[in-house]
Amino acid sequence: MSEKRARLILDLDTGVDDALALAYALGSPEVELAGVVCTYGNVTMRTAVRNTVALLELLGHPEVPVFAGADRALAAVEPFAPPAGVARIHGKNGFGDQPISGWCRCAPGDGMAFLRSEAQRALGEKDARLLYVPTGPLTDLALGLGSIAGLADALGRVTFMGGALVVPGNVTSCAEANVANDPAAADTVLRGGLRTRMVGLDVTHQAVLTREDTAAWRELGTPAGRFFADMTDHYIAVYEENNPHLGGCALHDPLAVAVAIDPSLVGCLAANLRVDLEGVTRGRTVCDPERLRDARKTCEVALTVDALRFLGEFRTRVTRVLAQARRTPAE
Ligand code: CA
Repeated sequence: MSEKRARLILDLDTGVDDALALAYALGSPEVELAGVVCTYGNVTMRTAVRNTVALLELLGHPEVPVFAGADRALAAVEPFAPPAGVARIHGKNGFGDQPISGWCRCAPGDGMAFLRSEAQRALGEKDARLLYVPTGPLTDLALGLGSIAGLADALGRVTFMGGALVVPGNVTSCAEANVANDPAAADTVLRGGLRTRMVGLDVTHQAVLTREDTAAWRELGTPAGRFFADMTDHYIAVYEENNPHLGGCALHDPLAVAVAIDPSLVGCLAANLRVDLEGVTRGRTVCDPERLRDARKTCEVALTVDALRFLGEFRTRVTRVLAQARRTPAE
């Protein structure tokens, strides 16, 4: 591969599908995982840090640095604690209550300082490519855009998992979970001029993983294969109750990482979006009436996806990582 590899920053609220997204990133030769910023949502920010450190050890990549991001929404006064419904979907520990070793032996660095240094590096290097993929609330990105000079230029187009344009939400009939956790942050990002690509429920509910896939991971015979199979089976079981029509679990966060690496996986509508901040539609991502006539559209909203091609890539990349983790000390 002659082209310079892009540096990838993940911003995770590390629950089940964030873990799958992390594995997808580690299995992608096009990118170098520069670091992971952790935030709240599926779990608390502190648990997201612990989970990410443990996963990186399990997957044989303890060298990847992990950083502390926002622990609450922009307007919140208390650190976020996941409600019971979220803890049921991702388990109390974020991993479907599957035990994992290696729980936090680290003091995570500061997420904003990391974003600042990566932005400076990208702006100062010729042909630098920096990918930033938030798969939790957009609080860190909103804070970064407000405090880090040149961040928008350094990031180019940010692919994020969140929102729902033409399908119902998954927290309320209007709101998707990541946007619902901090509507003000999402609105700041979507109306602030940054170029974005929204990978929301419109496409993530079309990318579904089944128990056949998790069985194949279990058969790898590695600690990572078993852990990912058990964790994901918990997630699939919740989907079988709540969304039986899907036939498996939605691959929300991994699809966002895949699309950041290869945007041709999705078909997009160019639009200017905003987020409803009040009332029954709070958290809804919708076209901004005030910018309907603007020729410049800042957001590419993914509405179609080549799900078969994505699933092929997902199986190849994640399985590669889970199989290679055989060499990792199991502790
Ligand atoms: Ca997530």
